[in-house]
Amino acid sequence: MPGGCIQAFKALQDLWDQVLMMIQDRLGRVFRDLRLSVVDACNLRCPYCLPVDAFPENHAFLPMEDRLSFDEILRLVQAFVPLGLRKVKLTGGEPLLRPGLADLARSLKAQSPGLELGLISNGTLLEEHLPALRAAGLDSITISLDTLRPDRWRALTGRDPRHGGLARVLSAIEAAAGIFPLIKVNMVPIRGLNEDEIEAMALRWRRPGLAVRFIEFMDVGTLNRWRRDQVIPSSEVRERLFRLGPMLPLPARHPGETAERWGWVKGGGEVGFISSITEPFCGDCSRARLSAEGILYPCLFSRRGLDLRALLRSGAKDAELEDAVASFWQGREDRYSEQREAASGMLRDRIEMFAIGG
Ligand code: SAM
Ligand code: SF4
Repeated sequence: MPGGCIQAFKALQDLWDQVLMMIQDRLGRVFRDLRLSVVDACNLRCPYCLPVDAFPENHAFLPMEDRLSFDEILRLVQAFVPLGLRKVKLTGGEPLLRPGLADLARSLKAQSPGLELGLISNGTLLEEHLPALRAAGLDSITISLDTLRPDRWRALTGRDPRHGGLARVLSAIEAAAGIFPLIKVNMVPIRGLNEDEIEAMALRWRRPGLAVRFIEFMDVGTLNRWRRDQVIPSSEVRERLFRLGPMLPLPARHPGETAERWGWVKGGGEVGFISSITEPFCGDCSRARLSAEGILYPCLFSRRGLDLRALLRSGAKDAELEDAVASFWQGREDRYSEQREAASGMLRDRIEMFAIGG
């Protein structure tokens, strides 16, 4: 989009946000999106998220009573909507490990029909749940997948092949594409691990209704042995994909979108780049994250959050919940990704991705 159009679009957006009286943080950012983690447990052990040496098979995740119940989640989301919330993405851990997820989706949509509701999943348990999720009103699905090779998938995810594997994920992607208008496939390319599959991933889903998105390997948490030299910058991925055929830039689908989008001229479909390391987007960040135990975090790299479970369980009224969240957001001033180089040494106790909700 040319510079003038972007400015006009942003001005309109600001005006619209003021009209709606959305709350703003200290940097003028509104609260529009929520990543809602329904469970911290996962059936995979992706090395950048839940490395198997730190989280063995028998790792003790949150006990059930410590997780927010569906009723508690519904109450909180109801309190967020008047503050500006428009979009919720169900995440985890692996969200489909939480029994009754489609029921939660249905209740969220029934309570707030205008809310856009998405799900992000590793795809291993997805296919059988697709009809119920669609019937519940879920709007979109993102499936995370880092390789097309069965042997590599097994090595990367630590998944016992007896429980199914890559074939189930691929089958879920096809099935989901037949039901939902747009399916996103997320890949985290990592130097020396799976970078040789970037083109194959993009080409595999070069068709209408599919978007393959490349996420830069992020320094979330403290256990994934992140190294900057393992990050593959989006600029490099973009350049490699440009060699596969012509693409045209696509406009953001909604304000604060994290992905830079490109559409294939031939074949249809699109690719996206999420570049938290090399092209941080803190200035536009409208997301908060609610952990499975009910802590609200303003940023993936936060160290502290607002304990909403404690508030709920101490009998707080709806107005008190709303006020607590409003003042929490209004006090927000983090922009970690933009300050990464200066801040990295200070952040030894930051939360892991599976716990905060990716
Ligand atoms: N289990 C679900 C899944 O894998 O889609 C949902 C939770 S997962 C934490 C959400 C997303 O975060 C996935 O797309 C995953 O690839 C991404 N992710 C996790 N750790 C990451 C990291 N260190 N850098 C970049 N992306 C990461
Ligand atoms: Fe599990 Fe998703 Fe983390 Fe992989 S990225 S370990 S699938 S939560």
